[in-house]
Amino acid sequence: MKKISLLGATGSIGTQTLDIIKEHPDQFELVAMSVGKNIAKAREIAEEFKPLVLSVQEKEDAEKLMSVLTSKTKVYWGEEGIVEAACQHDADIVVNAVLGSVGLYPTLQAIEAGKTIAIANKETLVTAGHIVMDAARKHGVSLLPVDSEHSAIFQALQGERKENIEKLIITASGGSFRDRTREELVGVTVEEALNHPNWSMGAKITIDSASMMNKGLEVIEAHWLFDIEYDKIDVVLHRESIIHSMVQYHDTSVIAQLGTPDMRTAIQYALTYPTRLPRTQAKKLDLVEIGKLHFEKMNYHRFRCLAFAFDAGKVGGSMPTVLNAANEAAVAAFLNGQISFLQIEDLIEKAMQEHELIQLPELDAIRQIDRETRLNVHRFINE
Ligand code: NDP
Ligand code: MG
Repeated sequence: MKKISLLGATGSIGTQTLDIIKEHPDQFELVAMSVGKNIAKAREIAEEFKPLVLSVQEKEDAEKLMSVLTSKTKVYWGEEGIVEAACQHDADIVVNAVLGSVGLYPTLQAIEAGKTIAIANKETLVTAGHIVMDAARKHGVSLLPVDSEHSAIFQALQGERKENIEKLIITASGGSFRDRTREELVGVTVEEALNHPNWSMGAKITIDSASMMNKGLEVIEAHWLFDIEYDKIDVVLHRESIIHSMVQYHDTSVIAQLGTPDMRTAIQYALTYPTRLPRTQAKKLDLVEIGKLHFEKMNYHRFRCLAFAFDAGKVGGSMPTVLNAANEAAVAAFLNGQISFLQIEDLIEKAMQEHELIQLPELDAIRQIDRETRLNVHRFINE
């Protein structure tokens, strides 16, 4: 029986993690969970799974839940609460499915507590990859990828030697606007941007997919997870999302992982690694039915955010923190109807241009740069 702490239980990845726990009730048990503001759903989950610990974002919500919950769940709130959930002493594995760089601190605390981390929360690795990876090495903790591309690469690396890798090839579906020119992006609506062709995901990552920032964040995520230089990471457009990513070795062999676009398979692999469990409720891949797979070269002028991410990653230091925080702030502003879709790129570019780089920033510096960058983005919007 593996005991799971699930951060971000009410989200898209969170809910699909609960599906996997339900698919294998004899294998997994939910012992702790955290949510943001969706209290109604938090209550439902807590009553169904009866975790020992539940954390919410706001104190008032914690108090409300304490008065209505019938299970023996202890309720916490705020940053301390999420850390309480992340470090719950019974938990064997923490699934980090929180959205954004708020996931950083609880991840570091869970690593210190010696928990295995299944990481979906890519912003944590983008904003402070060097700190997270150092902490994991120091405490002998594994970081298991949940993101489908990284799960694919991780699977393609099993039993292989790092020195034989020629490059990682990350596939990109292209998001909701893949067939539009830059001119055709002027005036696109939030609704259109949220309409992803292949995957059903949370709002922020769906916008990131449309802007191609998601792929940019994934490039940085891959750099940290697999300790690979940026020159050895390629991105190709693959509209079917069947090949989830590949590793090319120096003997020219390419090992890919394929499957239907279903995040639950990647989530389950992180939970069962190094073994596998059958998936009873998933659609199996039928390549004959699909018939054809397509691949196209990425256009870095069309998808500027991907170019920004490579730049930020190569510059290193505090630049990826700025890239991530500016993107989080800009996407939130787009979702709130404050800015246009193309302004997301302009705001990120401006935040990166203004930033005075710090090499090897410590945790406090990262948290401060994250806050300042968000303020800067709001200042640019109001200028
Ligand atoms: P969602 O927006 O669907 O869910 C986010 C979760 O985080 C919710 O439980 C939300 O709580 C919680 N949350 C948000 N803000 C805070 C906060 N300030 N404090 C505490 N909790 C908070 O996101 P997704 O599930 O789509 O994505 C989660 C992560 O996984 C992201 O990093 C994303 O990039 C990554 N990912 C997602 C994929 C997908 O298919 N969705 C695929 C690969 C990676 P509440 O709703 O209660 O407010
Ligand atoms: Mg992905």
